[in-house]
Amino acid sequence: MRLKSLPAELAVFGGAPAFPQELPVGQLNVPDWDVFTDMFSDILERGYYTNNGPLVRQLEFELQRILNVRHAICVTNCTIALMIAARALDLRGEVIVPAFTFPGTVQALAWAGAIPVFADVDPRTHALTSDTVHPCLSDRTTAVLGVHLWGRACDPDRLGALCDSHGLKLFYDAAHAFACTHRGRPIGSLGAFEAFSFHATKIVSGAEGGCLTTNDDELANRARTLRNFHSSQTFAKVGPRINGKMSEAQAGMALLSLRNLDANIAHNRDIDAIYRARSIDWPGLRLYRHAPEEQNNYQYAVIEVLPGCRIDRDSLVELLRAENVLARRYFYPGLHRVVPFSEQYLHVSLPVTDALAKSCLQIPLGPLVDEDAASQISDLIAFACAHGDAILERMRA
Ligand SMILES: *Cc1c(COP(=O)(O)O)cnc(C)c1O
Repeated sequence: MRLKSLPAELAVFGGAPAFPQELPVGQLNVPDWDVFTDMFSDILERGYYTNNGPLVRQLEFELQRILNVRHAICVTNCTIALMIAARALDLRGEVIVPAFTFPGTVQALAWAGAIPVFADVDPRTHALTSDTVHPCLSDRTTAVLGVHLWGRACDPDRLGALCDSHGLKLFYDAAHAFACTHRGRPIGSLGAFEAFSFHATKIVSGAEGGCLTTNDDELANRARTLRNFHSSQTFAKVGPRINGKMSEAQAGMALLSLRNLDANIAHNRDIDAIYRARSIDWPGLRLYRHAPEEQNNYQYAVIEVLPGCRIDRDSLVELLRAENVLARRYFYPGLHRVVPFSEQYLHVSLPVTDALAKSCLQIPLGPLVDEDAASQISDLIAFACAHGDAILERMRA
C-alpha cells in the first residue's frame, strides 16, 4: 500500500483497501503440514480417539512442566473448565467477577449454579483488583473469579490476601495468559484453579480445548472426576458430573501448537514492538501496556481511544475494517449489558467497565501480520488521528 495522503483515498470512502486480504484479530497459528498429517495418521492408526488417550496424557505432562504446576487437567474448552472448577470448589451463593471479559467466564458460573456479582475493573490494568472487589463483598460471597486479562496477572497478591482474610475461594480465568508470568513464574498456580483456553484464536490452539491447573491434589481429583461421567473414572466424591473430556485430535493439535509456541510469541513480540514504537504518532490513542517486568504472549494489541482524540472509537474501527484491517470492539458491551445478565443487573454501575467498552479496540496481530503490514497499519492509524476531523465530517455526509 502507498500511504494514503487524502481522506478521499480511504477505502471507507471508496478507495482501494490497503490490504487485499482480510487481517483478523485472533489469527490462527497453523501447524506445519507434514507433522500435522503424521500426528493425525497416528491417531487413526491407533484407533484411540478419546477417553484420556496417550496424547491427552502427554499434553497434560507437558503443560505441568511448562506451567510449573502439579496438575494440568485437559478438558473440552475453557468454559467447561470453569464450570468444573466452580463445581469442584463447591461454590454456592455469590461469586465476584468482572463484566469486562469474554461471555464464557460468566456463563460458566451461571451454569454451575453460582450467582455472578459484577465488580468494576481498574482503568490501567483493565482487570479486577482488591480495591474494586472489596465494595462487592456481602455475607453471601463465597468466591472471586478473576481474569488475567491481556495476559497480565490479576492482582494476585492483594486479591489473594483479601480472599484469605474473608474466607473466600479465589480462582482465575487464564484464557489469555498462557506463557505469561507473575513475579517471573508462569501463571497457572496463582488461584485454587486456573482455567486456560486452547481455542483456535488463542496462543496455544487445539482448535477447541482447555485445561484446569491446580497444585491441590484433592481439587485435582474432584476436577478429574467431574470431567468424566463414567463411574470407572471416580477419584473423589462429587455431585452430578459432565462430559468434559478432551479428544486425541484436540490434544494432537495442542501438542503441535506447543512446538511453535516460542516462535509464535517471538513473532507477536516483534509486531507489538512496531505498534509500540509507532504509537507515538497516534495522538489521543493509548496502546495497552503489558507489565514491563513480566513475560507476556503478546496475543492482544489493545488500543484505548482517549477523550480528545480526533476520531472516535467506532469510526476508527469502521475505517480500519474497510481497509481489511479487521479491528474489533472487544469487549463490547460489558456483560452486565448483555442478555441474560442485563435483565438482572440493570442497577449495577460499572463506570470504568462502561468507559473501556466504549473506548477499546483490538488491532490484528499474528502470522498474517508481518513487519511491513504492522508498519502500514500504524500509518493508517496515524493518518486517521491526524485527519480525524475531515474524516468524520465526510463519514457523516
Ligand atoms: C476465549 C476465552 C474464554 C473461552 O474459552 P473457550 O475455550 O472458548 O471456552 C473464556 N475467557 C476468556 C477471557 C477468553 O478469552
